[in-house]
Amino acid sequence: MLCEEVVRDGEAEKQVRNGGKELSDKKFGEMARRHFAEDFPNPERRGCPPISAIKLLADRPLEGKDWVLGHISFCSPCYRDHGSFLRALKKKRHGKCR
Ligand SMILES: [Zn+2]
Repeated sequence: MLCEEVVRDGEAEKQVRNGGKELSDKKFGEMARRHFAEDFPNPERRGCPPISAIKLLADRPLEGKDWVLGHISFCSPCYRDHGSFLRALKKKRHGKCR
């Protein structure tokens, strides 16, 4: 499956883009993300790091633990949590709330 390769390897995405086809980055990214986010269901959250560790990884990737990053890559719930933390952070940094 092409999808799977794209998720695992950022290079593949570039190649698709350079192929000259009008495949919107955004749409493609969304597709890959959705595929990815649902590919590793973990309803019991087995072996999941504490939510604070995921938040730290989103907040300060350099201080995040390697195993947490690794975990996220094969645990859909944590991946989504991480994504929502990232979005929240972006909003904050952009924000004129202060
Ligand atoms: Zn997890």
